[in-house]
Amino acid sequence: MAQLRFKMVEQAIARKAVPVEAPKERPSEYFAKYVFNKAKMVRFLPQKTYQALVEVMEHRSILPPSLATEVALGMKQWAMEMGATHYTHWFQPLTGGTAEKHDAFVEHDSQGGLMEEFSAKLLSQQEGDASSFPNGGTRSTFEARGYSAWDPTSPAFIVDGTLCIPTIFISYTGEALDFKTPLLKSIDAVNKEATKVCQLFDPTVKSITAFLGWEQEYFLIDEGLWAARPDLVLTGRTLMGHESAKNQQLEDHYFGAIPTRVAAFMRELEYECWKLGIPAKTRHNEVAPGQFELAPIYEEANLANDHNLLLMSIMRKISRRHNFRIVLHEKPFKGINGSGKHNNWSLGTDTGVNLFSPAKTDIGNLQFVTFMVNAIMAVKKHNGMLKAIISSATNAHRLGANEAPPAIISVFLGEQLSSLFHKIENSDTEDVIKLDDKSGFKLGLQQIPEIFIDNTDRNRTSPFAFTGNRFEFRAVGSAANCGGAITVLNTAMAQQLKEFYAKVEKLTATGVALHKAVFMVIKELVIESKPIVFDGNGYSEEWKEEAAERGLDCESSVPLIFDRYLYPETFEMFETMGVMNRRELEARAEVNWEMYTKKIQIEARVLGDLIMNHILPVASAYEADLLDKVYKINQLFTNPEEAKYVGERDMLLIMKITSHIRNVRLHVDKMVAARRAANVITSEREKAIAYHDNVAPEIEEVRYYVDKLELIVDNERWTLPKYRELLFLR
Ligand code: ADP
Ligand code: MG
Repeated sequence: MAQLRFKMVEQAIARKAVPVEAPKERPSEYFAKYVFNKAKMVRFLPQKTYQALVEVMEHRSILPPSLATEVALGMKQWAMEMGATHYTHWFQPLTGGTAEKHDAFVEHDSQGGLMEEFSAKLLSQQEGDASSFPNGGTRSTFEARGYSAWDPTSPAFIVDGTLCIPTIFISYTGEALDFKTPLLKSIDAVNKEATKVCQLFDPTVKSITAFLGWEQEYFLIDEGLWAARPDLVLTGRTLMGHESAKNQQLEDHYFGAIPTRVAAFMRELEYECWKLGIPAKTRHNEVAPGQFELAPIYEEANLANDHNLLLMSIMRKISRRHNFRIVLHEKPFKGINGSGKHNNWSLGTDTGVNLFSPAKTDIGNLQFVTFMVNAIMAVKKHNGMLKAIISSATNAHRLGANEAPPAIISVFLGEQLSSLFHKIENSDTEDVIKLDDKSGFKLGLQQIPEIFIDNTDRNRTSPFAFTGNRFEFRAVGSAANCGGAITVLNTAMAQQLKEFYAKVEKLTATGVALHKAVFMVIKELVIESKPIVFDGNGYSEEWKEEAAERGLDCESSVPLIFDRYLYPETFEMFETMGVMNRRELEARAEVNWEMYTKKIQIEARVLGDLIMNHILPVASAYEADLLDKVYKINQLFTNPEEAKYVGERDMLLIMKITSHIRNVRLHVDKMVAARRAANVITSEREKAIAYHDNVAPEIEEVRYYVDKLELIVDNERWTLPKYRELLFLR
């Protein structure tokens, strides 16, 4: 029975690295070869159109419809020269991942033949059936139309002969059905409010850009072994599997030498990234065996997010060429680290200043502290919503475990900044921020960038850490669309900056000098934001208690966390900043509850099947063998004492197996009953709660006994590849 498993193990051991053909040119020469970027636009567009399009891209203005025709023409010409035959609108539905529907560039030529066609209309907007994408009730069933509309701020690109046009996806009535629409609006909102605040310090600043640098963690599993695990195939994680005797205790994988098969995969992945304009930069082994990371150079947030989504899809493709399967689930294996996607977030001016980076002038530092304290305050105000946006059925396994950020959002500042904030709190004058403080303090802010970069990254237990010149939001899941997290951050920041500006304005109106007014508001915010600042151990039990006392959101049930989408302060933030309206937020909460239920439902079904088809037959057969043996012992050894002596251990083993099997059956029954009860609930919220409270715990119970069986049942018969095989054979 275990033949398939052993065959797959043998195959995995025998596999060699797949040779990768390197492009002959240097990366700088083929970087963005498949991207319709400015260099291509110059070649394929009339000059005036090019200038207009650049204007649209850089200032997010509207492209005059008359020019769209020329853009479509130029884009088609380039795409066809590159060998593309099809085009697609490429969008980001709420299911996660990306969606595409390919159309060929062909039309009837009215002479019985075909001609290549790609009009402005096809480029700019497409009508599609939105009914198969989650919409949380925003689209009534008789109105199934949805629209995808071109986002000119992210360049089109070619994958496998298809021209992909990044688009937003909205319902017929204009509500966002995707991640990109609110992200773009949040980028505009933070640009608007941050620019106003920046101009208090430097009137020449015209715009602010939000930046994102993500770090993608993932697991690679040999394809054959992966295929022999229906749970990995269908749910993305192992629903059972006893810990391997060796896993990550030795920490010998982190930053270790990259295995050759994996190195070949990474090399090809990087070539593909570069050709598609993704600035892949860093690659290394992660903490868990079989776990790796890729990080690019950070980019403008919308583009960076598109690049992350594109990366996830090309990773899947390329991994298969190397006989691997990529696993992006946040917690594929119990007992070893899960995968996250740290979101490094910062804001920068068009004059080249990073607003989260200490400056070299007094006024620059007043600005730096302004942006820091507003960011911290924004996180404090919306810590519940920030948790909601990164929560999912899959990320839930990772958060709160002793390796990932806890299910409480707090901000880590590091020693330098904490002491500066302490001084601000106890000072009545903005001199405290000055480089050479009259009261005798030498803050030494000039050296701070270096010091920060050396010192601040240590606290790995913090979900939201200041790392010298950016904030690192570490709670985001490896499979998530980063757009969600960045949308909340940008919007919360925009709202907070607006409030800050109003307060400063009010003070200056009464005659307070500008910088004095700024300092007064900063000081107020430093004090008010204190509860969210935590530099201690986020994994500790004491922190949970303390966080609750501080009034931070400590809810850990994912369906209840989704309630944060509907909090009055959430509505207010998104509505006043023009990012999402009430209906859109309600729809998102519905989609989340629905997705949560479906994920657990699938897991419960897969687990039920595995128990019936794999676990029980194997365990029972082994039990029967042992029973047979004991029976024979009793036949042979007529002296009961002798029979007992010979068969005692086997009897004990039989009892154990019997007991575990009983428990497996008992909890499978409970799991099925809980599922049936939950399935008849009509409210998506209540159903998700029922799945969380009653079904998910039974899945864990079943697993507990299956893992015990795995340890004692004959290895020869065990059908499912074990952790040691899944994780160490490469
Ligand atoms: P670490 O693992 O120490 O966090 P990495 O090099 O893996 O470091 O990732 C750091 C990420 O942060 C990279 O994607 C990098 O481009 C990004 N980053 C660096 N500076 C900024 C910044 N100012 N704004 C946004 N992202 C940044
Ligand atoms: Mg990092």
